[in-house]
Amino acid sequence: MEDPVNGRADQERRASPGSLGITAKSSPPPTREMGARAARAEKYQALHQARVWIGRRVNKLLPDVQFPGEIFRTFDCRNVRTSCMVEVRHTTGMAANYRNLATCGSVWACPVCASRIQERRRLELEHLVQWAEDQGLQAIMVTFTFPHTGFDSLGDLLARQADAFKRFRRGSPFARLKASIGFQGLVRSLEVTHGLTNGWHPHTHELWLVSPAVGQEIRARLVELWERACIAAGLLDPADQAKVYAFRQHSVDVRLNASSGDYLAKQDSSRKWGITHEVAKATSKAGKAKGVHPHEFLVRMAKGDEARYFEYLEAMKGKRQLFWSPGLKDRCGLDEVSDDDLALGGDDADLLGNLNQDEWDFIRAKRLAAQVLDAAEIGGFDLILRFLKRRGYKPPDFGTSFVDQDEHRFPGLAPFSVT
Ligand SMILES: [Zn+2]
Repeated sequence: MEDPVNGRADQERRASPGSLGITAKSSPPPTREMGARAARAEKYQALHQARVWIGRRVNKLLPDVQFPGEIFRTFDCRNVRTSCMVEVRHTTGMAANYRNLATCGSVWACPVCASRIQERRRLELEHLVQWAEDQGLQAIMVTFTFPHTGFDSLGDLLARQADAFKRFRRGSPFARLKASIGFQGLVRSLEVTHGLTNGWHPHTHELWLVSPAVGQEIRARLVELWERACIAAGLLDPADQAKVYAFRQHSVDVRLNASSGDYLAKQDSSRKWGITHEVAKATSKAGKAKGVHPHEFLVRMAKGDEARYFEYLEAMKGKRQLFWSPGLKDRCGLDEVSDDDLALGGDDADLLGNLNQDEWDFIRAKRLAAQVLDAAEIGGFDLILRFLKRRGYKPPDFGTSFVDQDEHRFPGLAPFSVT
């Protein structure tokens, strides 16, 4: 497919407000890349909002107050340089990214890091499901939910949920169940959404590796164990018959012969998250009932969203988003890679060029970080410089010629023309 931007002559390119200013005159049909770029811009915008809220909160609270999670790292994330030059890296077919910037690596606090980390975790899950198939195992997807109301605090619900799971998994009934289905391990994903009617909705999606003979009959046994655990943990009132009935209908969902795609599609909005998707969903009836991913607070900014964002960070502090059965990664041939290492990524991509301090300060002041990555993907470093110039960037007079600066940027390369 022809590149919608590079396939046209320069004079056909027109600036439009809020865009890179390199959009072709006749708008091309949206491509997958354009969707990904729009989603990235939303995530950078959401990260900016997180920075605003964190800054405000820090100013309001006393210095000795504990801050939830690692919000200071999120405050600096993709904003503060860790070296004198900021590298822009890109390999064709991949997303461009920066090096030499602070990253927070928080799946809970940071929409940009969460997206990068989940993209890599998705590949690990795909590998696991393929491996399970090669071993003659069946992957089944089990989702556990429980009743909740708008009056419950997230911290309280999570504590009860953890207690319920502890009760669910301990003792001989669960051991017998595992033995009977040839259980080989699981990956559990902890998810939280928030609905304006029923409040916080923590739930888990689990991928279980079991014998190929396992069928839907497993569901009744899981419901029985889960019901007992939820009653004991105070999540279900056994005297409330309507609730118990609904619980038996909806609290456990089993999907047999699951593909990694099924599993990930179930991971709510965290992966697909983006304003176009979420806002459309949040205003629909189904969306209101199901709720939104907490990163949506940063974009939606409804009444109470700022407080909810911090309640979420406080409650998720120290929790793992994905849990793998001990030894399972090793068995299927995956290395352990920390979220921190995944958050930045791109170190093996080609270096397009270096942004100096002054250019980076301009980019962050004007909040152009996402658009600069778009430019990198579309037209390389040359386009980044033209884009910055168009946005009003003027290099400070260091008493050197512009050519000298270019040589500094690209040692050994002839300077290109900046027009
Ligand atoms: Zn981050």
